Amino acid sequence: MIDPAENLAEVQRVLASAAAKAGRADEPITLVAVSKTHNSSRIEPVLAAGQRVFGENRVQEAAGKWSALRACWPDIELHLIGPLQTNKVREAVELFDVIETVDREKLARKLREEMTRQGRELPVYLQVNTGEEPQKAGVLPREVDGFVRLCREDLKLDVRGLMAIPPADEEASLHFALLKKIAQRNDLCVLSMGMSSDFEIAVTFGATHIRVGTAIFGDREHHVMGSDTR
Ligand SMILES: *Cc1c(COP(=O)(O)O)cnc(C)c1O
Repeated sequence: MIDPAENLAEVQRVLASAAAKAGRADEPITLVAVSKTHNSSRIEPVLAAGQRVFGENRVQEAAGKWSALRACWPDIELHLIGPLQTNKVREAVELFDVIETVDREKLARKLREEMTRQGRELPVYLQVNTGEEPQKAGVLPREVDGFVRLCREDLKLDVRGLMAIPPADEEASLHFALLKKIAQRNDLCVLSMGMSSDFEIAVTFGATHIRVGTAIFGDREHHVMGSDTR
């Protein structure tokens, strides 16, 4: 039996204690509840418990679930945390409130165009491939400064911060520290880093946003969309 509301409360307790240990008890740290693959019946108890910030990694899937949920909970803040194809930008700008995965010029330009067209300026984060993994999305660390400049100065995007997913087989703290260093030298205050397994460490290293899925909603492995198997 998964009790997402109870899990949420536990994650909030762990987060509060990690923040206190890091001397950050007074700083806001935003918990982004990652609801990808889970359907509405599992998300609703978390909404009822007061959680308002959610992360989804697919535009299509998010559109299906969240248009209905938003009708009941209009004050949701929805973050896109997965790769964004340029042909989905229009829908993404309509649906999401924050885009965390801006990682290439073509996408940045398309976002600019679409935000202007819709008259909707969304905060964006730039995704950094701190581990320089070839299969992973994100700007390489050495290219971030130039990309920040392009997004901010040329495209006038509202760049708030950086996001990263450390390599699975490496010490996450090294990647968190690197992300923080890059953010500081670019005057960016948002650091989206830390997931279910490592968000306490991320808080120690200055995360302002943690993205937690499994610890709240349970495993995604045996979960089939459209048939809630609880
Ligand atoms: C799925 C996902 C998460 C959540 O991961 P958990 O390990 O389930 O907490 C966080 N960030 C991104 C980018 C994801 O795709």
